[in-house]
Amino acid sequence: MPAQAYIYPLASGSLGNALLVGAGGTRVLVDAGIPRRRLTAALAEDGAGPADLDAVFVTHTHGDHFCSAAVGFCLAANVPVYAAAENLDHLARSVTGFVKLERAGLARPIDGEAVTVGDVTAEAFPVPHDSPGTCQGFRLTLGRGRARRTVTVATDLGHLPADAVPHFLDATAVVLESNHDPDLLWSSGRPVDLIERIAGPNGHLSNEASAEAVAEIVGRSHPGRVRHIVLAHLSRDCNRPELALEAQGFLARRQGRTVRIFAAGQYHAGPRIPL
Ligand SMILES: [Zn+2]
Ligand SMILES: [Zn+2]
Repeated sequence: MPAQAYIYPLASGSLGNALLVGAGGTRVLVDAGIPRRRLTAALAEDGAGPADLDAVFVTHTHGDHFCSAAVGFCLAANVPVYAAAENLDHLARSVTGFVKLERAGLARPIDGEAVTVGDVTAEAFPVPHDSPGTCQGFRLTLGRGRARRTVTVATDLGHLPADAVPHFLDATAVVLESNHDPDLLWSSGRPVDLIERIAGPNGHLSNEASAEAVAEIVGRSHPGRVRHIVLAHLSRDCNRPELALEAQGFLARRQGRTVRIFAAGQYHAGPRIPL
């Protein structure tokens, strides 16, 4: 009997991101921008070691999503790292040691074609963000038949384009950015050009934009299919979990939705969500 599929946010925010996804005997990460010891500790909770990690899917080239610590982890454990082909070139230039992954055949492209690793099939789709190269969301299909589950992840995006919405529909779990409260952002004392970048169409999703995106995703999915929403990449200075959840709750009540909504944290892993 295969183990139940789950998602487990290990860290989320501008200081580092990693989402552990398990299905059957397969474990993958979406992004690995956190210290090695935190990756090792999270796998140990599962009774697993670094070599039990089967792949890392990297959304984009910003350092909070893949870092040199992850290079060492993946090299030592022989874990393949998948990213958009053009992002592999950027990562080779910006992440110390990444060329060693390339030489070991562990840096692999994921673009238009689906990639299957054990019980997980990943499909990438583009989202608008201002990172060098391109930024991708991932739709992961876990398991097969009646036990099949889907997870769609997009953590850094300035807006949700209409052509990205279908990748989220009917996903068992949606992991979506809810980066900032606009009032807190504009009163943060940050330079205006930085604020405009964050709030712009290629920056980060506000709480309100995230809530509107979730409303559209849930509203266009079959009733009851989307069961879990994880709000991701909350700004430490310009957001609070209760504000992000409140923005979602307002629309959810109006829609009469029954979806469980969580906010992922920067410093603490969890929740671990069985799917
Ligand atoms: Zn980020
Ligand atoms: Zn980013």
